[in-house]
Amino acid sequence: MTTIQAIQGDITKQAVDAIVNAANTSLLGGGGVDGAIHRAAGPELVFECRMLHGCKTGDAKITKGYRLPAKYIIHAVGPVWRGGQHNEPDLLASCYRRAMEIATAHNLTSLAFPNISTGIYGYPKDKAAEVAITTIQQCLEQPTSVQEVLFVCFEADNFLLYQQLLK
Ligand code: ADP
Repeated sequence: MTTIQAIQGDITKQAVDAIVNAANTSLLGGGGVDGAIHRAAGPELVFECRMLHGCKTGDAKITKGYRLPAKYIIHAVGPVWRGGQHNEPDLLASCYRRAMEIATAHNLTSLAFPNISTGIYGYPKDKAAEVAITTIQQCLEQPTSVQEVLFVCFEADNFLLYQQLLK
């Protein structure tokens, strides 16, 4: 049985098999959680990221965690919110699904997600939380190595939303 839990905190501090990054298509770092992960992982991370040659929106790629307590980082690229009629829900769901597939392919057991796309990318937080939770629940109907899914909310409003939806 896999457990799904929400906490409020900083994802760079989580000692899990992999943390998921809300990256951009370049995979070369950026603001928000991406910047925080690159700072905490150290400068070696961007060297490995350069060799990945970017990532499409809705997809994800894995690197080592370097100086993080997490062993790996799964860099997922969420959609920019453009009003909701541009395939945003499918692309956001695809990020969570691809991260779960990659974690399973690497036999990882614990995985921490940030609230992908809800910062600079402007995805409405309530809608994003619904997509995140529903997609993870769907993924857990398939065989997976993942036994613990953690939603790490940086902001109090996101944490509240997840607590309500996971009740
Ligand atoms: P995006 O471009 O996908 O919107 P952001 O990094 O701007 O990515 O925001 C995604 C989410 O990550 C936001 O909810 C933001 O508050 C959150 N966030 C920012 N820093 C951290 C952190 N250190 N740990 C966890 N979440 C974070």
